Amino acid sequence: MKELKADAKIETKCLHAGYTPKNGEPRVVPIVQSTTYVYDSTNDVADVFDDPTKSLIYSRFENPTTDAVEKKIAALEGGVAAMCTSSGQAATLCSILNICECGDSFIASSAIYGGTINLFAVTFKKLGIECIFVDANATEEDLNAAFKPNTKAVFGETIANPAVNVLDIELWAKAAHAHGVPLIVDNTFATPILCRPIEWGADIVIHSTSKYMDGHAVQVGGVIVDSGKFDWTNGNFPSMTEPDESYHGTVYTEKYSFAPYIVKARMQLMRDFGCYPAANSSFLLNLGLETLAIRMKQYCENGLTVAKFLKSSDKVESVTYAALEDDKCHKLAEKYLPLGVSGVISFAVKGGRPAAIRFMDSLTLASNEVHVADIRTCVLHPASATHRQLTDEQLVAAGIDGGMIRLSVGLENIDDILDDVRQALDKI
Ligand SMILES: *Cc1c(COP(=O)(O)O)cnc(C)c1O
Repeated sequence: MKELKADAKIETKCLHAGYTPKNGEPRVVPIVQSTTYVYDSTNDVADVFDDPTKSLIYSRFENPTTDAVEKKIAALEGGVAAMCTSSGQAATLCSILNICECGDSFIASSAIYGGTINLFAVTFKKLGIECIFVDANATEEDLNAAFKPNTKAVFGETIANPAVNVLDIELWAKAAHAHGVPLIVDNTFATPILCRPIEWGADIVIHSTSKYMDGHAVQVGGVIVDSGKFDWTNGNFPSMTEPDESYHGTVYTEKYSFAPYIVKARMQLMRDFGCYPAANSSFLLNLGLETLAIRMKQYCENGLTVAKFLKSSDKVESVTYAALEDDKCHKLAEKYLPLGVSGVISFAVKGGRPAAIRFMDSLTLASNEVHVADIRTCVLHPASATHRQLTDEQLVAAGIDGGMIRLSVGLENIDDILDDVRQALDKI
């Protein structure tokens, strides 16, 4: 089989990027269920340690099945390299820890996933890393004012979970670059089918692959993609440009100038934390990725139909879905998400928390579960689940109120989804 042409369209990359079987090899990416890899001599093993990017050492940080998926996701996002992780949380953790140390700070949009807020505000604080939260709709001036001399990164979500705000990626990238630091974008809900943040100036893209990428709710995983575009030699990142004593003096920006960020994340953080996915999980993720393009189009179509229906109901207080023309993020969605804004809708019913609970408990097709961006329609009440640990103030900052429901529209027939939503609204 021939190499995939570099300008292949994204639907084609979903199926073919990352793995090119040679004469007589398996058509499908094989599951390499092995912790370790064999060499002929002590010298061969020493060589692998000298340049771990040349061959495989140990499945705590690299594996051929996962490698194929990493290459596919890097191709989909337009990056130069990627590293899979055992969860989206691990991807977020490593994306920051790869550049921030005790005594550093970074900036994050306040409209982000609840688990990420916890990691940033509570756990990183214990590690001596400060997260400076900034309003998701901050102006350039607000953003610039948030930087401190020790600020090393900026973080936001393309489509925020669960507030479904759209991030002004170009603006946030501009502010980050003006201060010599990278923009990290969590692109979980948009996926590279709807938005490729690197094209808008993001330097690092991360995902919870547990959501649309896998799509079938069969594996928890994450990924970090390196655009290869950020200049780590600008003086702000000595851990990239000075010898790493824990890796026999490697200078990442010199030895691995094609993707120093990802090589460092793998050789330092993944080596030490070991939060790498199992080969079998990567195999399942790859199956999901194969149909990602076609699924995303249908999620967007079903999502828009349901959002319009909710908007027309007198039981509904408000609907947040950036594809709706009067949504506060509609302009941003037109720019960054021209194909659609996924199947995730945030809406509030009239009557607050009790009415929201009544609605959710009346659904018969949509399931009540702690998941989102799945192939099956599902609902969640963020204030009593994923965001339960947040204070009222943090809830407001994250764009969540007691009556708010996160509805993740799946791929069932649209008439069945609408029937279910209609009958549950009638029960309020
Ligand atoms: C779910 C989610 C995460 C965390 O991912 P896990 O795979 O559950 O660890 C991070 N960011 C976003 C936007 C998410 O939706």
